[in-house]
Amino acid sequence: MILILAPDTNKDSTEYRQLLEFLSNLENIQHRVHDEKGTQQLLTEIYLVGDTAILQNDEMLSLPCVERVVRVSEEYRVLGRHHDDQRPTYFDYHGVRFGQDNLNVFAGLCAVDTPEHVEIMLRALAEHGQVCTRMGAYKPRTNPYSFQGHGKACLPWVFELAGKHGIKVIAMEITHDAHIREIQQALEDAGNPTGVMLQVGTRNTQNFELLKAIGREADFPVLLKRGFGITLEESLNAAEYLASEGNRRVVFGLRGMKTNMGDPHRNFIDFAHVPVIHRLTRMPVCIDPSHSVGSRDATHDGILDIFHVTAQGVIAGANMVLVDFHPYPGKALVDGPQALHMDELGYFLEDIRIARKAYEARLKLARKAHAASGAD
Ligand code: PEP
Ligand code: MN
Repeated sequence: MILILAPDTNKDSTEYRQLLEFLSNLENIQHRVHDEKGTQQLLTEIYLVGDTAILQNDEMLSLPCVERVVRVSEEYRVLGRHHDDQRPTYFDYHGVRFGQDNLNVFAGLCAVDTPEHVEIMLRALAEHGQVCTRMGAYKPRTNPYSFQGHGKACLPWVFELAGKHGIKVIAMEITHDAHIREIQQALEDAGNPTGVMLQVGTRNTQNFELLKAIGREADFPVLLKRGFGITLEESLNAAEYLASEGNRRVVFGLRGMKTNMGDPHRNFIDFAHVPVIHRLTRMPVCIDPSHSVGSRDATHDGILDIFHVTAQGVIAGANMVLVDFHPYPGKALVDGPQALHMDELGYFLEDIRIARKAYEARLKLARKAHAASGAD
């Protein structure tokens, strides 16, 4: 059960103290307080776990400071969509809105290599009005002898260049909790010219200690990639780990599943799950066409598979596209063969716009059809 308190509830007030005292005296029920600092107000929610079936909604609603009561199912307590759940399905970070109802593109380098390449990438994004990018500094590699990323050494110049080109949010994978502090420090030293969305890669989806550490972190939103060899439920529980520790600014990333059924793609594309995540949770959904497809194969219609699957995800309502580009894919240190080329950026963005418009038209059509049939 979730108790949603009146906005800006004062923690020093007598009412709040009375509420906490009441909750502390409930037998076999534990409570946990979550604060959400919005731009306008502070929202406080209290999560009750344990024997909550015996609690009466009306009684809980009559407690001091309580504005609403949400009864949650067992699963995905914080991030799930529950019956009568009107909690928001979006968050704002660094001036960018991440929601189930909008779309952001994160085109960029799979791995940061040279300042020259980063500059070319960021300049092109700025020219196309883009304010988000992906830049991998810490790379989890299958082979220990492969390039592992420049790590913290590249952060100062990556952040500085991002600021110079008006980039507001960089998706950046971390593989160890020490990387959080390194990113925080580098941002601070650079005067916070940009923001970072911490990315948990598919190889770390069930690294619970990493998830807990990131979950305790209030500074950064998180892009959690679905695990490539586990069930959807297990991946959603991984997202819940972040939220249960306090960080609920989570985007859920689909990036394909490891199975031979995926052949000839690097992974079996799972973008049909976009609406499923929307239905089960309040998280915005990201698709990663690059790591799903893994090549620049095109069909006779002249359209790359990466473009096709992106459109498929976007027409189903995806909220974020994470995609690899490189100015000289032959020189890329990681994943060159799947990178899109700089002269394809405008074309790719336009193709996405077409798919998004089609999604919006489909939404309108669905509403009209529902209204006509009298269904709710
Ligand atoms: C990446 O986005 O760079 C990446 C390694 O993705 P994934 O964890 O999905 O393989
Ligand atoms: Mn990659």
